[in-house]
Amino acid sequence: MSDFLQDVQKHIDIAAQTLKLNLDVLQNIKTPNRILQFIIPLKRDNGAVETFLAFRVQHSNILGPYKGGIRYFSEANIGEIKALAGLMTWKTSLLGLPFGGAKGGIKVNSLLLSRRELEELSRGYVRAIFNFIGPYVDIPAPDINTNPQIITWMVDEYSKLKGDFTPASFTGKPINIEGSRGREVATAYGGAVILKKIIDDYFPKLLNKHPTVAIQGFGNVGGNLAKILQMAGFSIMALSDSNSAIQANSKQKALNPTAVYNCLKENVMISNCYCVGSVCSRAGGSQLISNAELLEKEVDILIPAAIEGQINKSNADRIKAKIILEMANGPITVEAEEILEDKGILIIPDILANAGGVVVSYLEWFQNIEQSYWPEVDVLERAKKMMIDAYEEVKKIAIERKVSLRQAAYIKAIERVARELNLKKARREI
Ligand code: NAD
Repeated sequence: MSDFLQDVQKHIDIAAQTLKLNLDVLQNIKTPNRILQFIIPLKRDNGAVETFLAFRVQHSNILGPYKGGIRYFSEANIGEIKALAGLMTWKTSLLGLPFGGAKGGIKVNSLLLSRRELEELSRGYVRAIFNFIGPYVDIPAPDINTNPQIITWMVDEYSKLKGDFTPASFTGKPINIEGSRGREVATAYGGAVILKKIIDDYFPKLLNKHPTVAIQGFGNVGGNLAKILQMAGFSIMALSDSNSAIQANSKQKALNPTAVYNCLKENVMISNCYCVGSVCSRAGGSQLISNAELLEKEVDILIPAAIEGQINKSNADRIKAKIILEMANGPITVEAEEILEDKGILIIPDILANAGGVVVSYLEWFQNIEQSYWPEVDVLERAKKMMIDAYEEVKKIAIERKVSLRQAAYIKAIERVARELNLKKARREI
């Protein structure tokens, strides 16, 4: 079992003990319903045929159709995808959505593919899982290294096989193929909403200053969150992507994320690379640092927004932030969490912090089914209310039961799934 999967299982075990779940139910909620592992052949531009390992794990559909992203990642493996599929079940349950949890991935470094190859691989993925997905079965979305363009190819391939344009088969689509306004920024927006509530409730003294922030990962989530927080008066002190990290130099008060973003865009054009390049040290004369230094920076808020396991037992005791907002899935290991809690660092758990994406995915799916489309302000207003409602419930459980926000979130999420499971058993539906 992968370390990430083991960590997710540990969080479930602790919550299950609090809820006094019986062993049958516990075993059921820990085990994925379906695991698809397959090979996608791809004809490369040089004529050679290469194969890529791919996955779709459908963890639970007790609360509704499976829901979860697809990542293109050279380190993708079945343990990671199983863990991520489980996290989706807990996230959709926590937010009260009518969805279950799933996750998919292809083991590939998509930066090394041409645009044609990327399109062919994405269409091949849909052909492989076509019989197991659909608007009322399993609705995939973007994740690491997948984006609205890739989702467009996937919807097109699904619709061709179905013989009918089916926008509700995927979320994270561009607006012009029936995506939702606000989806692109939704995950970051949801994280900002929760962070603001945490500061109001737990760190009111930070309200009188410009809280300092370091963000690991400058993609859809980290990049958008940097811009949102800067506009809200936060000082962005350090940023990174998989290649490099930068911090504000001694003369600067803070980084300007828009300048960094523009710099990246320029790089993309220069190198003619399809995906993002390296965070550029030219933006505003900032200083290059290492990714390790970024995580250990003395800031008020640390935001891991890249991949799992980044804060672990090897660096946890050097983390100096007061708050960690988990925008990535599983960025803190269980061992690290114990060290961070002893240091008094407040952790805002992934299944709450980054749920804004799946909330607006639900609103996108809903708009597709209803064939009625809302302005961005309405979408984000609805998402904000759902995020705050979930936060208030988590906070209440944390206070009443004297547990961490993560445990409170798991208790809430597992309770809903277990209740539905017992109801369905009583009705002999399963
Ligand atoms: P993305 O592909 O748009 O961006 C990922 C970023 O992380 C890139 O800047 C990449 O260079 C960087 N990165 C990758 N490995 C790194 C490393 N080792 N060190 C530093 N930076 C690294 O992906 P995204 O959609 O922004 O997703 C980021 C995280 O947020 C993932 O954990 C994902 O599962 C989670 N998430 C995403 C969404 C969503 O709606 N996109 C929703 C919920 C959770």
